[in-house]
Amino acid sequence: MYKEIYKIIKKYDKIIIARHKGVDPDAMASEIGLRDSIRLTFPTKEVYAIGTGTKRFSYIGKLDKVDDYSNSLLIVCDTPDIKRIDGADPKDFDYVIKIDHHPFIDDFGGLEFIKPNASSACELIMELLEKTRLKCNSSIAKTLYYGLVSDSNRFLFESSSYETFNLVSNYLRKYPFNIKEVYDNLYARPLSEVRLKGYIASNMTVTESGVAYIDITDDMQTRFDVDSAAAGNMVNDFNFINEVLVWVTITEDVKQGIIRISIRSRGPVINKLAEKYNGGGHKFASGARVTTFEEAHLLVKDLNELCEEYIKENDLGD
Ligand code: AMP
Repeated sequence: MYKEIYKIIKKYDKIIIARHKGVDPDAMASEIGLRDSIRLTFPTKEVYAIGTGTKRFSYIGKLDKVDDYSNSLLIVCDTPDIKRIDGADPKDFDYVIKIDHHPFIDDFGGLEFIKPNASSACELIMELLEKTRLKCNSSIAKTLYYGLVSDSNRFLFESSSYETFNLVSNYLRKYPFNIKEVYDNLYARPLSEVRLKGYIASNMTVTESGVAYIDITDDMQTRFDVDSAAAGNMVNDFNFINEVLVWVTITEDVKQGIIRISIRSRGPVINKLAEKYNGGGHKFASGARVTTFEEAHLLVKDLNELCEEYIKENDLGD
C-alpha cells in the first residue's frame, strides 16, 4: 500500500493535502508533515496543505491558500467522512488518497488507506516515510511527533503499540529534534485555562453509572477568559478517575452557533452513539455537534444507559 501511495504521489505535479474540520494537532501535523516531505523529495512539485488555521497550533507550521484544484491529486489525512473534510471535495480532483486512523465511514472514491488501531494519522505518515523514498528531516520528524504525541495523549492509549515506539525510536535516532520544545508547546498553558480546569473538576456532575459531564457556557468562557476550543479540549485532562467511565465536555460556541461535545471513555464504545448526535470518532474518543444544551443532555442520558449496560455486562456493580 505504501509503495502504491508513493507511486501516485510521484505521478502528480500538483498535490493538495487536506484534513478534518475542527483542526487538532494530529490533523494539522499530518498534513503539514506530509506536505513538507513531498516538497523535500520532489522540489518541483506544487504541494499545499489546506484548511482553516488557528493561532493555537501555529507552532506546528503554516497552512496554504489555494484557489485552483484543477489537474491535482487530493490527499486527505485523519478524516473518515466526506462532510468533515475541511476545504475540499473529492469530486473536484483527478484522484484522491485517504490516509486515516478512524473507523471507515465514506469511500472517497480512490485509494483508501485506513489503520483504525494506529495511534494517530501522524504515525501513518511516519510509516509512509519509512517505507518509501519520501524524505524526512528533523523538522518534519518534529512536526509528526506533535501529532502522534497529542493524539495518543502522550502514549496513554492502547493504540500506542510496539510499532509506535519503534517508529518514534527510529525517528529520534535518524532525525534528532528537541522533545522538550514539543512538550512545552503542547502542554504549557495560561493560568486562566488551569483555573477553568479546576472549576470543571470541582463542578462536573458525575452520575451513578459513571458519566461525568459539564456545561461550559459562553458566559463561563468569558469569566475564565478561555476560548471555546481550549475549553472543549480540557476533556483530555480527566482520564483515570475511579468513579468515572465516560466523561464529556459540552461547550457553547457562539461564533459558530453550535454546542460542541467531546466524549472520552475508559470502557464503553462511544462512537456509534456520537454518530446519532451529528458526530463520530474513535471507539473511546469521539465528538458530536448539537444546537442546544437540552440535546446535549439527551446524549448524556444515552451515555448513562450505555454505561449501565457496560457495568452489567462486565459485572462491575457493587
Ligand atoms: P474531539 O473531542 O473534538 O477532540 O474529537 C475526538 C474525535 O472525534 C476526533 O477523532 C474527531 O475527529 C472526532 N469528532 C469530533 N467531532 C466530530 C463530529 N462532529 N463528527 C464526527 N467526528 C467527530
